[in-house]
Amino acid sequence: MESMISNYIIIVSISGVLSALLALFAFYRKTDFTGLNAFIISSAASAVYTFAFALELSGSSMEEIKFWIKLEYLGMPYIAPSSLLMIMHFVGLERLVSKKLLVLLYSVPLVSSVLVWTNDAHHLFYQSIYFREGAPTPLVDIVMGPWYIVQGSLTFGCMLAGMCLILWRWGRMRRAYLRQMLIIFVGQFLPALGAFLYLMDLTPYGMDPVPVVMSVTSALYIWAILSRGMLTAAPIARENLFESMRDGVLVTDLSDKLVDYNRAAAEMLQDLDASAIGRPLAQLFLPAGKEAVDYVMNSNPQDSDEQEIVWHIGTEIRYYQIRSSPVQKQGGHLAGRMIMLIDVTERTLLQEKLLQLATIDSLTGIYNRTHFMELSRQRLKEAAEAAAPFSIILLDIDFFKSINDRYGHQIGDMALQHVVGVCRLHVREEDVFGRYGGEEFVLSLPGTALKQAALISEQMRRDIEQSTFSTLTGAIRVTASFGVAEAFRHPISLEELLSEADHALYSSKGNGRNTVHLSSGSSITRFKPM
Ligand code: GH3
Ligand code: MG
Ligand code: MG
Repeated sequence: MESMISNYIIIVSISGVLSALLALFAFYRKTDFTGLNAFIISSAASAVYTFAFALELSGSSMEEIKFWIKLEYLGMPYIAPSSLLMIMHFVGLERLVSKKLLVLLYSVPLVSSVLVWTNDAHHLFYQSIYFREGAPTPLVDIVMGPWYIVQGSLTFGCMLAGMCLILWRWGRMRRAYLRQMLIIFVGQFLPALGAFLYLMDLTPYGMDPVPVVMSVTSALYIWAILSRGMLTAAPIARENLFESMRDGVLVTDLSDKLVDYNRAAAEMLQDLDASAIGRPLAQLFLPAGKEAVDYVMNSNPQDSDEQEIVWHIGTEIRYYQIRSSPVQKQGGHLAGRMIMLIDVTERTLLQEKLLQLATIDSLTGIYNRTHFMELSRQRLKEAAEAAAPFSIILLDIDFFKSINDRYGHQIGDMALQHVVGVCRLHVREEDVFGRYGGEEFVLSLPGTALKQAALISEQMRRDIEQSTFSTLTGAIRVTASFGVAEAFRHPISLEELLSEADHALYSSKGNGRNTVHLSSGSSITRFKPM
């Protein structure tokens, strides 16, 4: 018997060492796991308890034993509440860990510690402590006081709550975390079972098996920390993930009626609350505008697709990327679809801005030379393929340099805008109008023959001549010279055509300006309107 007791003491001491090691490992482990502190407290408290317990077992006098019991109670009452807190962090309920809860969980253990140290004065924790009769070594038994029951209830309550939380989360935890969950569960369950058997007087020689059990659970934890990366990070519960997403998510059933949605989706859609569950998606999308409703009506719930649409939130206009993908139940049966709403407004506006910067002349608002060339080349090719006529008008403001010199650059800019404004009135939908250079503009006219292009040029020339633009120094009038060419030869490149129009323009400049000259490929003639 005596050798059994000494073996027992050795095992309990080992358990103490393991708990202390565990606390140290946890302490020196740099991780993101927010429940780590609770785990460290729990392990350190276990170490204090088990060491003191081993010393109690080897104590010989009542005074000595009572002292070790007091020491045990500096650790033991804090183990279960700390473990519960750690589990709460692990299963993603850290938002429930409030100051109030901490006070609630730790006030009982604190009172227990005080009461055990002062027990002789009030006997609220132990009614009595006495030597067990017939025991081969000095072993003590106790009679519970009222606070012993309070502390016992808290300990069992916390252990039970911890196990319940793990079981509650089990089905929803990602597979990678199930092993850790199992280890934490065993770490809770085995000591709880030991304590229960002890209280029921079902343990051999009435010995407390918890410290021994804790050597097993501590060893398990140490193994998991060292080899399995346990406690590096808490798993994020799926609901939290779903709720904390920045993108809106809507889930519908087979008839496209709402089944679930997240917080972000509720912010993107007016009237999206719990009462919306069961309502058709198209109806829920009404406040987001026509494009949103059209999307729901026209997309097939069984297909994955992605589209960018205009989305209204109140009076605000946003751009949303909508991604729809079918949702399958276990077994591959179609269950509905998931719609993801991603706000791409900033990106879309930036793209529009970049596109504008790359294609539009900022002073006049018409196409810049690069974009003009790109579009016109395409139109010329299409006209050639369709055997349709294609003409080019080139115009250059007369004596523009002197406008700059007389009135200043700013007025010069206004003159450019004025000329563009007048010409624009004659530009048709299919035409491409661009700024070719400083005060030189170009117009390509698909489907238009030389004669028609000449008439348009003449109208422009006349309108420029007859209009003025007002400045602080008075109204200013400008004129412009024109050169027109048609793509008679095939094939002809845009550059060749532009060069012909430039020759015609040069003739206008050389013949008094403010005129229209036509190039027919081989010869240049002045256009005389009837
Ligand atoms: P011509 O009748 O022979 O065409 O004579 P011009 O003075 O119009 O022709 P020239 O090519 O000698 O001068 C063009 C001037 O246009 C020179 C340049 O300073 C001016 N210019 C070019 N781009 C701009 C602009 O964006 N704003 C202003 N204000 N002036 C510009
Ligand atoms: Mg000029
Ligand atoms: Mg010029």
